[in-house]
Amino acid sequence: MRVIAIDGPAGSGKSTVARALARQLGLQYLDTGAMYRAVTFAVLRSGGDPCDTETAAGIARSMDLEVGLDQVIVDGVDATLEIRGPEVTRAVSEVAANAAVRSELVSRQREWARQRDGGVLEGRDIGTVVFPDADLKVYLTADPSERAKRRAKEVSDLDYETVATDLARRDALDSNRKAGPLVEAGDAVVVDTTGLDIDGVVARVLALLPGETRGPDGVPG
Ligand code: C5P
Repeated sequence: MRVIAIDGPAGSGKSTVARALARQLGLQYLDTGAMYRAVTFAVLRSGGDPCDTETAAGIARSMDLEVGLDQVIVDGVDATLEIRGPEVTRAVSEVAANAAVRSELVSRQREWARQRDGGVLEGRDIGTVVFPDADLKVYLTADPSERAKRRAKEVSDLDYETVATDLARRDALDSNRKAGPLVEAGDAVVVDTTGLDIDGVVARVLALLPGETRGPDGVPG
């Protein structure tokens, strides 16, 4: 099993880098943030309170969840767009701080990788909790203002100030929670992506893999 763990705060470039790495290495890719967003979506959709730990935990355990490369299906409903919307984004860090929700999603993530004999997983706790023995752990970071600028570009209906405030609030919640906090693994390679282009970051990460000789087009060299 070959596992690559990509962790870091929102807007650090995780998704773009993880997708590109997966493509180049011929591995599958899992966005674990989409899983926490999907639980939040399901709680809100059921009319439940995201802060009610029992409700969120029950939904996490019983929900049918498919996270694909471009689509997220929750109990048969296409939630791809809604999981990125402002309501889910506002509530997701509360749900992600719920230890019972985390324990359920961590087992699903391990099972996902086991079935595929590995993969590229991105999130907050992949290198610290989900796969502490990952073959490569990368912790991506970037200046808060650059991260907010990147996110503001993605969500065209929100202005920079709103996005920056939300990112700072989520960073604080994600870093200070007890269960699976956002923290660098001691053995992670830290890459600051401020001012770097994606190709540069991907090339740098690929160079860290022992025996990796693929070219930029993903063809083995
Ligand atoms: O990566 P993204 O910003 O979509 O993640 C949404 C939220 O999900 C994060 O703010 C964090 O609270 C939570 N999350 C987490 N652990 C992960 C991935 C995401 O707690 N492995």
